[in-house]
Amino acid sequence: MRLIPIGGLGEFGMNALVVHDARSLFLVDCGQLFPSDDQPGIDSIVPDFAYLEPFADQLQAVLLTHGHEDHIGALPYFLRRWPVPVYGTAFTLGLVEGKLREHGLDPELLRPVKDYGRVKVGDIEAEWIPVTHSIPDACALALHTPQGVLVHSGDFKLDPEPLDGRLTGLERLNALGDAGVRLLMADSTNVGRPGRSPSESVCRGGLEAAFEQTQGRLFVATFSSNIHRLQTLVDLAYEFRRRVVILGRSLDRNMALARSLKHLQLPDDILVDAKDAHLYDKGELLVLCTGSQGEPMSGLARLLRREVKGLPMEPGDRLVVSARAIPGNEVAISRMLDDAERLGAETSLENLGPVHASGHGSRDELADLIRAVRPDHMVPVHGTYRNLRAHGALAASLGWPPERISLLDGGLCLRLLEGDRVDMAGAVPVGKCFVHEGVDHMVDARVVKDRLILQEDGVVFATLLVDPQTGELAANPTILSRGFVMLSDDDAYAELLAGVARQTYEQAPAAVRADGEALRDTLRLALRRIIRKTTQTRPLVIPVILKAPQV
Ligand SMILES: [Zn+2]
Repeated sequence: MRLIPIGGLGEFGMNALVVHDARSLFLVDCGQLFPSDDQPGIDSIVPDFAYLEPFADQLQAVLLTHGHEDHIGALPYFLRRWPVPVYGTAFTLGLVEGKLREHGLDPELLRPVKDYGRVKVGDIEAEWIPVTHSIPDACALALHTPQGVLVHSGDFKLDPEPLDGRLTGLERLNALGDAGVRLLMADSTNVGRPGRSPSESVCRGGLEAAFEQTQGRLFVATFSSNIHRLQTLVDLAYEFRRRVVILGRSLDRNMALARSLKHLQLPDDILVDAKDAHLYDKGELLVLCTGSQGEPMSGLARLLRREVKGLPMEPGDRLVVSARAIPGNEVAISRMLDDAERLGAETSLENLGPVHASGHGSRDELADLIRAVRPDHMVPVHGTYRNLRAHGALAASLGWPPERISLLDGGLCLRLLEGDRVDMAGAVPVGKCFVHEGVDHMVDARVVKDRLILQEDGVVFATLLVDPQTGELAANPTILSRGFVMLSDDDAYAELLAGVARQTYEQAPAAVRADGEALRDTLRLALRRIIRKTTQTRPLVIPVILKAPQV
């Protein structure tokens, strides 16, 4: 049996694990990665599924641990290519269903599973074990295989007081440990934090303080899938006699889904449309918005741009960001808080107490899981390479010898051999695919690189007009540029480049002149060389060769 993480190791996001043996081939999770500033115009990044191509007709299913984007976000792209059944708990599949409908895909492939439910895929039986996390219905997976039991933790914490009372199934994990677990793959996200992560229930105190200390409108930005946080906020709104306005599409959608699955209880008439908010006193409103990460299209961003009619942000109001900053978003979040302060709102969290609790277990919880499962073999997953190493070191400190801990990196393939042996069977091709949603297809990595070059150094066009009879230039080359250090009307510099283009053409051997591709390459190289020498920049250089019209 082979276990191949094609994403989610050595990076945060894009979690996807291939499980492959003679009779079974399936994926555990199918997540996306959110793009950073150096991927301009890209809406999402999904794993490259090249490994699966040769086995296309054997692929059986996707098993989902929970509904976060970094675990389900790539499904629409995956299912379009491989329409296989998708198994997961109700809330997880509810989120997937919305996503599939948005992409015009049929949700008939979705197969709901209950807590502790089992599904047979080939010769492997998968079992969903509940875990606490920052989204309802999260699960770990136990895979009962001919080569022993594998446990995949999914994202988890050991919250002793989850709002819905649905505890992590430690008893079941312990029982599996008693019977013998071959391998544990466990979430490494918070391995750097000592002790235990605070329970979701502690957020109530900090949020309650925000209600107490706010005279005007209270705006709270949080993750739209964190239904328990939203429940706390709605409960507080009811106690403090505030109506609730929802700003943001994903909040609307997720709250409706959570209500339909009884994960969220809303008192009658507590919701108010944004357009009716002006009918209420400032002190009678709680505004829940998307945009905790500074996303420009979010409810909060629209509000800060004053695009939400009848709902201003003013002195006396308060904005609480009840979420952590996902690494890479700090600048956007800081800018957003600044914008709110400019409008006069309070954004400081001082004097409030905690308004956010992580959904991932800290060191002591990770240790508890290892001790419950007692695997023959331990494989840290989900996190940067540093996280994975630190998680391995934690297992070592609990008495696991180094040969029973494997550090995998994206694309490395772990093989389970006869007996209790495990080895690394080399790497498989992995990579990232870039999605630009407007065009709704994958964008080649080269396109992303070109965009970066355009963004940094601009573009230079060199147009050469060739006389088709003589093969010589019919006119001096013309140079045009955009975003390049030299303005297009800098005649002296344009002349220098035109001169280089002319000379390169004239010195090119006949064979190169006759071959359009080779000629463009030669021109591109020559122009890039002179531009780099004279300006220290590397713009995109595009030679255009035209035949002069016959007179
Ligand atoms: Zn998660």
